[in-house]
Amino acid sequence: MRTAVVLFTRDLRIHDNPALALACEEYDSVVPLFVRDPAFTRPPLGGSSARSQFLDEALVGLDEGLRRLGGALHVAVGPVAAAVAGVAAELGGADVVCARDVSPYASRREAELANERRLRLVDSHFAVAAGAVAPAGGTHYQVFSAYHRAWERTTIRPLASTPEQIRLPQAFVPRPPVAAPASGTIVGGEDEGIRRVRAFLRDGLSAYGASGHDDLSIDGTSLLSPYIRFGCVSVPALIARAREQGGDAFVRQLCWREFYAQLLWANPHSVDTDLRPRGDIWEDNPDSYAAWKAGMTGYPLVDAGMRQLLAEGWMHNRARLVTASFLVKHLGIDWREGARHFFDHLLDGDLAQNIGNWQWVAGTGVDTRPNRMFNPSAQLKKLDPNGTYVHRYVPELSHIPGNQLLNPGLLAPDYPAPIVIHEDAVAAFRARRRLEPPASRPSGDAEEHGD
Ligand SMILES: Cc1cc2nc3c(=O)[nH]c(=O)nc-3n(C[C@H](O)[C@H](O)[C@H](O)COP(=O)(O)OP(=O)(O)OC[C@H]3O[C@@H](n4cnc5c(N)ncnc54)[C@H](O)[C@@H]3O)c2cc1C
Repeated sequence: MRTAVVLFTRDLRIHDNPALALACEEYDSVVPLFVRDPAFTRPPLGGSSARSQFLDEALVGLDEGLRRLGGALHVAVGPVAAAVAGVAAELGGADVVCARDVSPYASRREAELANERRLRLVDSHFAVAAGAVAPAGGTHYQVFSAYHRAWERTTIRPLASTPEQIRLPQAFVPRPPVAAPASGTIVGGEDEGIRRVRAFLRDGLSAYGASGHDDLSIDGTSLLSPYIRFGCVSVPALIARAREQGGDAFVRQLCWREFYAQLLWANPHSVDTDLRPRGDIWEDNPDSYAAWKAGMTGYPLVDAGMRQLLAEGWMHNRARLVTASFLVKHLGIDWREGARHFFDHLLDGDLAQNIGNWQWVAGTGVDTRPNRMFNPSAQLKKLDPNGTYVHRYVPELSHIPGNQLLNPGLLAPDYPAPIVIHEDAVAAFRARRRLEPPASRPSGDAEEHGD
């Protein structure tokens, strides 16, 4: 009688789950396991309570899905390798099947598990596994456009079949996840993820490529990131469907995710170390940092984004770019401080994506224009000309027409004055980076993320 423990990590789904499919095909009985590792309550992995709520909901959904197939989810607590060893020993010895992952934590987990028993790692989280495409003579890509070209030519991982039945070992009594009380509007889980994928492919994908994904006034992006973060939806399946519908711009964004994943995989130190140091000496300015976190900088777009993060545990990508750039380049505050705050609040908080994007914005990562600054006023004019996004999150400004938001001044006595003057911030940044004085366009305004 051969038994496998399927260690679920962030592949919390039944459809297209290669670990579950392999175990159900090749073993007589299967124990689906999730381990609550205390490492996820501490930095650098711990964080957002909204994210743990989403996880709880996804685990309950996974358990329900497994039960529909005759199985159930067993939840154990403790350092992951010890917890898995405990379950496997209880079963009289079992193989472990698990999805390979890219973070330093995942590498340690894989090494520790392999020490204990037979570990079978499968590719699951990405359409193209980290390291599967690499430039000649290298282990990974450092420039997105080159990665994107190679990635587009690569065959994506074939989809795994959904098991017809899951056979738990006789006499094994699983400990189910604790039922999560209903949360806000973004409910975790595979059923909800699939529903959202269908709705986006039907109603959102066709407008996404035009400028739908840059327009802050509408929900023009998929809002799928928390579901992708926890594997409630299958990325290869999503890519295949989007390609059928001509959704290249959307697929390109999913490619960014894979690009940053292979970057962290190849550079584990980048979690807290500059990939490309620029000799930055960071400002220690608790008041500015606090104003940024609270959405009280006096720049309407920055404040709307930061308040959206606090209110919803999510922020539009364009707002993430502008708020992050403002912290690092206007205020001169270390990107690690910003990454920590984002990670503390984001529902989709994911080490590789958060770090990769923060380093990109800071110019210490893979941006080919490391000294670009996003001008928050120009961005407001471009991305939210009627002020719809700002009005939604900054109520003190809700009575001010979009074309006057750049300078609300006396119209909004409750709203703070700018904590830094844009032109001074540009000059200070350029001096810190020892750059030539700016030419005619001092702000070096934004381009598409990933040009
Ligand atoms: C400073 C900063 C921090 C970020 N931190 C995270 C994070 O912790 N987790 C996270 O998932 N994304 C992060 N992003 C990337 C991006 O903002 C979000 O993935 C996106 O806003 C999610 O919304 P959506 O699902 O509607 O995206 P869509 O526009 O619908 O895109 C579809 C999917 O593509 C992927 N994607 C889109 N843009 C990016 C990008 N720039 N980098 C990597 N993947 C991308 C996501 O998986 C997303 O769900 C960060 C961006 C910035 C600038």
